[in-house]
Amino acid sequence: MANPNFYIWTVGCQMNVADSGHAATALKQAGYSQTSQVMDADVVILNTCSVRESAERRTRGKVGALARLKQQRPDAVVVMMGCMVHPDRALLHRQFPLVDHFVPAGDVDELVTCVPEVVDEWGTQLYELPSNSSVTAFVPVVMGCNKFCSFCVVPYRRGRERSLTIEEIVGDVRQLAERGIQEVTLLGQTINHYGRDLPGKPDLADLFHAVHAVDDIERIRFLTSYPRTMTDKILQAVADLPKLCEHINIPFQAGDNAVLRAMRRGYTIEQYVEVVERVRRIIPNVSIATDIIVGFPGETDEQFRRTYDVLEELRLDQVHIAAYSPRPGTKAFEMGDPIPLAEKQGRYRTLDAQHERISGEINAELLGGTQEVLFEELHRGKWKGRTRTNKLVFVDSAEDLTGRILNVKIHQTTAWSMQAEPVGELARRELVAAS
Ligand code: SF4
Repeated sequence: MANPNFYIWTVGCQMNVADSGHAATALKQAGYSQTSQVMDADVVILNTCSVRESAERRTRGKVGALARLKQQRPDAVVVMMGCMVHPDRALLHRQFPLVDHFVPAGDVDELVTCVPEVVDEWGTQLYELPSNSSVTAFVPVVMGCNKFCSFCVVPYRRGRERSLTIEEIVGDVRQLAERGIQEVTLLGQTINHYGRDLPGKPDLADLFHAVHAVDDIERIRFLTSYPRTMTDKILQAVADLPKLCEHINIPFQAGDNAVLRAMRRGYTIEQYVEVVERVRRIIPNVSIATDIIVGFPGETDEQFRRTYDVLEELRLDQVHIAAYSPRPGTKAFEMGDPIPLAEKQGRYRTLDAQHERISGEINAELLGGTQEVLFEELHRGKWKGRTRTNKLVFVDSAEDLTGRILNVKIHQTTAWSMQAEPVGELARRELVAAS
């Protein structure tokens, strides 16, 4: 008899992508096969996000579309996991009557217990080794968050900060390396708080050194840094360790101190600017990404302008912009949503155009130069990869470049990506020698 199938759908942040990867591995170990066809699935997992209203809307649409599956195959099991799963299960069952089980974000153990057990004809559990041929992987290292920013549901849905031990993480990374993964991105909502809850209090720099020692891992990235607690020791480790990529994501969310206070972000914009200056001083050629929310309740035109001015001054490489949407259960929810949608969209477009101009100028400076690129996949006829600074690069090649690290010469740039031609391969031993 063929193994039962599972289908998994994911929306949201990299942490969710990592959770889906773990869920898939656990289900395969429990004897399931993965399918990309939802109508074939015996178990459907919807890994949800509630950071934005738009993400919740997509999930509601997806659940609605499962009515046909349930009609044709009433035995199919639908599981909702992720940040939309709040503690009020009775309410969830009323909101989503098609869903059979609700699993909190990241709780893969509970997921496995709520899907039907797979047994072979002798009644023993089936196991198979997980397979994954991709080049890059996300590795959660700190779960949850202690910050309670007023707009954010993460601490309510993912709980308080909990770090995995260095040994556990290195074990995970070793397994990924054995599967051919060359680049790992270490994940945490406040990743620079790594280790605060562990005996002996190792920090993120200690973790970098341990992961750096794993053979066959060529690149290490990390997401997301909380500005006020970024230490020189962590930044120095990024500068010193060759496998650590010169890219850092530090959200500032708003450029006005009153808005930052209302967001309960716990720093001033002057402190944020100081952190960016420190990052740039310690890590040469670093690229910096940030997250911004426009239209937070009460944000005036003048306060929005301050965000624009800070971005103009700092000239960051990547800016992820979101229009504010109120999230039930958060502190800011009580403030309503007074800024009209059209106004939020206008502010969004203003920052987007500014970002396009500034990123375009930054990338244009790379024209004619050489960049080291790890190629991931074929995308619309071109090979897609990323520089160490996390910029997208496309090249034409008749060869399969999956998993190869090449030096490329940049011959065309836009704000969003670059076109290039390969000029030489970096052999593994060169990279190892460099480290
Ligand atoms: S730091 Fe703030 S925005 Fe980030 S996950 Fe924690 S509560 Fe949410």
